[in-house]
Amino acid sequence: MSEKAAEKTVGEFELIRRHFSREKRSAAVDLGVGDDCALLRVAPGQQLVVSSDMLVEGRHFLSTVAPERLGHKSLAVNLSDLAACGAEPLAFTLALAMPRGDDRFAAGLARGLFALADQHGIELVGGDTTAGPLNICITAMGQVPVGQALLRSGAKPGDDLWVSGTLGDARLALEVFRGTVALDGHAFEQVRRAMELPQPRVALGQALRGVASSAIDLSDGLLGDLGHVLQASGVGANVFVDTIPRSTVLAAQAPDLQHTCLLAGGDDYELLFSAAPAQRQAVAAAARDAGVAVTRIGALTTTPGLQVVDRQGAVLPQTWSSFDHFKS
Ligand code: ADP
Ligand code: MG
Repeated sequence: MSEKAAEKTVGEFELIRRHFSREKRSAAVDLGVGDDCALLRVAPGQQLVVSSDMLVEGRHFLSTVAPERLGHKSLAVNLSDLAACGAEPLAFTLALAMPRGDDRFAAGLARGLFALADQHGIELVGGDTTAGPLNICITAMGQVPVGQALLRSGAKPGDDLWVSGTLGDARLALEVFRGTVALDGHAFEQVRRAMELPQPRVALGQALRGVASSAIDLSDGLLGDLGHVLQASGVGANVFVDTIPRSTVLAAQAPDLQHTCLLAGGDDYELLFSAAPAQRQAVAAAARDAGVAVTRIGALTTTPGLQVVDRQGAVLPQTWSSFDHFKS
């Protein structure tokens, strides 16, 4: 592509037509992009599940990220919320503010967005496009059989606490960008992928319906997000820090850094869920069907509060804080 083409600026409607309108491909969508509203179909006996997440440059992503990866992540974080509720994704909208009608950026963003959308068979059905500081807000819609959504409020004392995948790599990548940690090229690329290309656990969420007692997706760090579950459910928890699954790259770091990344990392987009001990085989089967590893990392208690315990049984002092946009 020539330098000139790379800097091409196009108008609002041309941008939408070129990059964000595609032919209809989902049975759930009666009318997509182009009218004042989209028309969607929810199957009988299902509830509509809706979630929005906004990505703001400098807050949620660095200006160095490739547009294609940004497109992936913008949708992935929203699908992760649907996954946490056990929902089947149907469609999404995209509200996009960008400084200028940057054709190349929009093309890259759309490529990443639609590649992930196609993996899940969902369609972009509308949105809004405006000039402004770079900001991407997606609203994802899905469906779940009435009454079967996984919620934060269902955890019971005695339940096991589980997590999918591995935690902490996205935070480790952030520390490399911040210059506090150095990794070799291969290790850095691995953790950078975790940060920029999270895989929403959509199949696992659906497989856990009727098995898990509560679920949440990890976006702001394990301790903070677990805190939401404990509060909503009125229970406490013991987390066994040495059992928290981590990549070989993270496992090679100093213990303090590992703990920070695992417990307060953020941007993991794994599922944290609880299930009665009687469901252990069912949890394993759900994970196998979904093709995702799950690990038992703790237990829920009647005593309120959250304790992080190491393999010697010592309680770790909690010096970590989870992410809060208006506090940090
Ligand atoms: P309105 O002014 O009626 O809200 P717009 O002129 O903003 O409509 O948008 C025209 C059509 O393009 C609408 O169907 C809207 O949903 C869709 N649209 C606008 N921006 C986007 C986008 N970034 N992605 C997908 N669809 C979009
Ligand atoms: Mg209108």
